[in-house]
Amino acid sequence: MTTAGSFNPFAMAQAQFDGVAELLGLDEATRQLLREPLREYSFAIPVRMDDGTHRVFRGFRVQHNDARGASKGGIRFHPQESLDTVRALAMWMSWKTAVVDIPLGGGKGGVICDPHHLSLREQEQICRGWVRQVARNVGPLLDVPAPDVMTSAQHMLWMLDEFETIHGGKYPGFITGKPVGLGGSLGRTEATGYGVVYTLRDALERLGIEARGTTASVQGFGNVARHAIELFARLGGTTVCVACWDQADQTSYSYRRASGIDLDELRGITDRFGGIDRNKARDLGYEVLDGGAWIEQQVDVLIPAALENQINADNVTSIAPSVKVIAEGANGPTTPEADAEIRRRGIFLLPDFLANAGGVTCSYFEQVQSNMNYYWERDEVLRRLDRKMTAAFEGVVELAESRKLYMRDAAYVIAIDRVAQACHDRGWV
Ligand code: GLU
Repeated sequence: MTTAGSFNPFAMAQAQFDGVAELLGLDEATRQLLREPLREYSFAIPVRMDDGTHRVFRGFRVQHNDARGASKGGIRFHPQESLDTVRALAMWMSWKTAVVDIPLGGGKGGVICDPHHLSLREQEQICRGWVRQVARNVGPLLDVPAPDVMTSAQHMLWMLDEFETIHGGKYPGFITGKPVGLGGSLGRTEATGYGVVYTLRDALERLGIEARGTTASVQGFGNVARHAIELFARLGGTTVCVACWDQADQTSYSYRRASGIDLDELRGITDRFGGIDRNKARDLGYEVLDGGAWIEQQVDVLIPAALENQINADNVTSIAPSVKVIAEGANGPTTPEADAEIRRRGIFLLPDFLANAGGVTCSYFEQVQSNMNYYWERDEVLRRLDRKMTAAFEGVVELAESRKLYMRDAAYVIAIDRVAQACHDRGWV
């Protein structure tokens, strides 16, 4: 589970689950039910490419649990996507919706593809093909997809359009993360990154640290990272380092500037894949370091906001003594081996399925608005989001303190207990 090559996120998700099942004393049938997905679909998506040739992509949808409500979770487009990754992410979605206490279950989808090498028309065909293969197994009352790594509001709209064409009606509650004005919710784009910072603000307050004047290092420069950096700056914090994937070099680089990075400035020098132009960055006074440097920075806060398996046995010891909080914006960024070290050092951890739950919480608000066909103002969405995130944070931190649990374990105890209880109440196990 430690090195990138052998890393299996589903094995990691199951190991985390097994530990908490023990702590909760779950019975054998409940353990069996919850350590595997309820249902999974794996299918071919044939696409006619722009050059007239045909290619067949592999698509997945995994519904881990729907005892608390319809399955919920994003769809990733990634060249390294695998059924096991989607299984892990679906399981984490069940815990995520439970920890913030929204009436939804956990699911996840994916397609093995690299959007960097696909035209928009080809991506549209993949979206429509994905929906055609599972149109009878997803829907507003069954399983509600959303964006994730390398999918956007546009992808969601194509998927909605295909679903509505197949079912012959308007079903805006089928999918979330839609464009504003076409069933989307104001605040959804920023919700995940903002949610990370709402919990970070609460954590700093709990630790008696004034947010103003704190520093952070962030891994990732996608939607979650950018909005986290933006809100962190508004709290008076300074992001001094950001690591970003470089498509041309197929590796990532860290960009550091002691006076702080300027989000707009960096946004202004990104290519169409979101990668930062290194020469322009240097001209603007950034030091360009290797991709792993983000974790070694002398900062107060680390925010991994890229992919899974980024803090592991190989690099956890490089975390500087100055780091007080790790806020996980990505799903599954920390392996159990690294977790043990973070816990030993007493770093305050905001676990992924709590810290990044802002996205799905806002998706829930979007679904509510879509089903009512009545849309709220941005302030109202963000106010409700902040309230939900803070309540979830407080529930977890109070349990962690009273039972002397690591924050990840406390979040797991709350979430797994809620899902297990729903399964029992329904008479499933
Ligand atoms: N993909 C996001 C996540 O991992 C959002 C899921 C959703 O909105 O359903 O939480």
